[in-house]
Amino acid sequence: MATVQTARGPIATADLGRVLIHEHVFLMDMEYTFNYRPDFFADATITDAAARLNALKASGIDTIVDLTVLGLGRHMPSIAKVAAMTELNIVVSTGCYTFDEVPGPFAFYGPGLLRDTPTDPLVDHFVRDIEQGIAGTGIRAGELKCAIDMAGLRPGVERVMRAVARANRMTGTPITVHTAPQIESGLIVQQVLSEEGVDLSEVVIGHCGDTTDIDYLMRLADRGSLLGMDRFGVEFSITMEQRVATIVAMIRRGYVGSLALSHDCCAWSDFFPAVEDYHAAMPNHHYLHIHDDVVPALREAGVSEAELDTMFVANPRRHFEAGAARRG
Ligand SMILES: [Zn+2]
Repeated sequence: MATVQTARGPIATADLGRVLIHEHVFLMDMEYTFNYRPDFFADATITDAAARLNALKASGIDTIVDLTVLGLGRHMPSIAKVAAMTELNIVVSTGCYTFDEVPGPFAFYGPGLLRDTPTDPLVDHFVRDIEQGIAGTGIRAGELKCAIDMAGLRPGVERVMRAVARANRMTGTPITVHTAPQIESGLIVQQVLSEEGVDLSEVVIGHCGDTTDIDYLMRLADRGSLLGMDRFGVEFSITMEQRVATIVAMIRRGYVGSLALSHDCCAWSDFFPAVEDYHAAMPNHHYLHIHDDVVPALREAGVSEAELDTMFVANPRRHFEAGAARRG
């Protein structure tokens, strides 16, 4: 039986249910939060997050993948507290989010560097998070994450991406990559991960929903990756209507098996002075937007219940089953 690690322990992939494949619970610059945002450490932060996740569960979603890794303020004690207060499954991630340099501790520490090591300590950290648990909580990571943005394949970005690939090969843990469709960086991801021997069916190309370029999306899907239509509620450059129309166009071309939906939102972030500011600035960027607005729009456009089930249930399940035979 294939299983997935969640914040409350392993579950069968058959029990993942309806999944949002790219979310966050808390999203922050942890150093800034430690110094300037004491409100994060108040009990209300935990109870508010749990209430939001419970509302999401009540709306029919069973599982979220929390892609908060090093560089995005992963704080496992808080995740553990929230997980204990909700029936929603939270798949926790390991990896590193950078558009440029590796995090400071790794600049001089690794193969061929001042502190020369036989293997990249990034790989060792990721594998430890997957096999033993994160930061003393015993919660094991169920997903790997890295990023490539407008700056392209910077040396630090490439080092992290190859470390994520090696951890995937060693542990069978699937991968999500933050990409910038403006520079078609999903294709760079597929090239680098292929070089490392990664099966591209174990990869979500994140933020594909930020483009309406069907040709680009088909090229990515044709190589077997799942496309993250995962920024519903972010409406700066592309509207919900455009995001929905792109999904419908892909389905009409036969790609329903390549799509998964999400918001990329969070319950609390230090990116805004207060949670109220976040919700005022981005009123649709919340966990219920897909349920309240997107699914009705998809139905209105002729998307069937079976197609919705494929995108919310079958595709995420396949993502977590792809490498399951290699997992311990
Ligand atoms: Zn994200």
